Amino acid sequence: MASQVTGELNVFESAEARFEIAAKRLGLEQGVYRFLKCPEREITVYIPVALDSGRLEVFTGYRVLHSTVRGPGKGGIRFAPDVSLDEVRALAAWMTWKCAVVDIPFGGAKGGVICDPSKLSKAELERVTRRYTASLSDWLGPERDIPAPDIGTNAQTMAWVMDTYAMHVRQATTAVVTGKPLELGGSQGRNEATGRGVMICCDKALAKLKMKRDGCRVIVQGFGNVGSQGALLMHAAGYKIIGAADVNGGLYNENGIDIPKLYDWVYGQKKHLPEFPGGGEKMTAQEVLFRPTDILVPAATENQITSQNASRVDCRILCEGANGPTTSHADAIIEKKEIFIIPDILGNAGGVTVSYFEWVQDRQGFFWRESEVNERLQDVMEHSFDQVVRYAELHKVNNRIAAYIVAIDRVARALKLRGFYA
Ligand code: GLU
Repeated sequence: MASQVTGELNVFESAEARFEIAAKRLGLEQGVYRFLKCPEREITVYIPVALDSGRLEVFTGYRVLHSTVRGPGKGGIRFAPDVSLDEVRALAAWMTWKCAVVDIPFGGAKGGVICDPSKLSKAELERVTRRYTASLSDWLGPERDIPAPDIGTNAQTMAWVMDTYAMHVRQATTAVVTGKPLELGGSQGRNEATGRGVMICCDKALAKLKMKRDGCRVIVQGFGNVGSQGALLMHAAGYKIIGAADVNGGLYNENGIDIPKLYDWVYGQKKHLPEFPGGGEKMTAQEVLFRPTDILVPAATENQITSQNASRVDCRILCEGANGPTTSHADAIIEKKEIFIIPDILGNAGGVTVSYFEWVQDRQGFFWRESEVNERLQDVMEHSFDQVVRYAELHKVNNRIAAYIVAIDRVARALKLRGFYA
């Protein structure tokens, strides 16, 4: 998963490296630069949980609040065996920049628990989630810090977070988390939102590069929420998905993969993705990244495209559905290949954008139709894409640095207006 790649910066250093380049281009003053570089708060909690066997296990959890300059902290909770404080730190900072790129009134935060959800029963996962939430209840809240799903967590996890928080504050508080089930104040369209945002960005990139959507070849690495929903939507819209992969391995088929059937195979029949009958050539999940394609969507986890392998990437458009799939050492190689990059903080921002809509709906107690959610999402994504690309062209930087500059500039302006409380 997010493990360290030899000779490469770790995710936190990678995030910092881009921040530094953008801050320099922006001429950010030293004090502001130093303030925005550090998180506002980092919490480590040790979570004692009785396993079903009766044995007591102690899990380690984190919640990092990177910034509340533009609004309450916002960001997912990740359950994975290789979660580390450095990773959560990087992900929290990325949430700040992501929310700023799409101009929604949130700061950035992220949480994680070191555990393997595939090895825990539903009851054990519930106890981990509730104890983690209880330990953090003073710091969470609709105006403080608002979690959401991420790798290893889902709408059910969010329902437990919401209920635990509600018991502590003694009132139902749906707006404390997003990505909830519809029955509990979730939003229409939230489940597909990140994948939809990826597609909207790809549509925009195609239009910009004067390429056609029909039959446009796409490889998606990752078949979790982002990858599977993105692939389903893109398949339905006329894209040809020629490669797919998840933790169990990859598939490549130049004639195109039947994504709705693959979805049923993996999620309905609970079978391994590479075993999909007639699916295509089997390979590792890494190998799928290097097949020729028009669009490559890494939608799995960090550190997939590195300085060691970036020269093998063979696509016209790289749309990052995951957070941090490309290391900062790989950036120059991708740039030299003239690949049109849609950086993570823009490419996967559809999820947090609809999280924002969910929070707004919860606070208003008034819920929108799915078409309304999707229209508003389209509007936000298209506008943000245009701004980033315009900035990149004007200032002759790549789209990633342009996205960081747009984001950092927004946060820095807000910070200057607020001033420093002493
Ligand atoms: N975990 C998602 C992300 O990395 C969603 C975060 C949210 O909706 O708060 O963007």
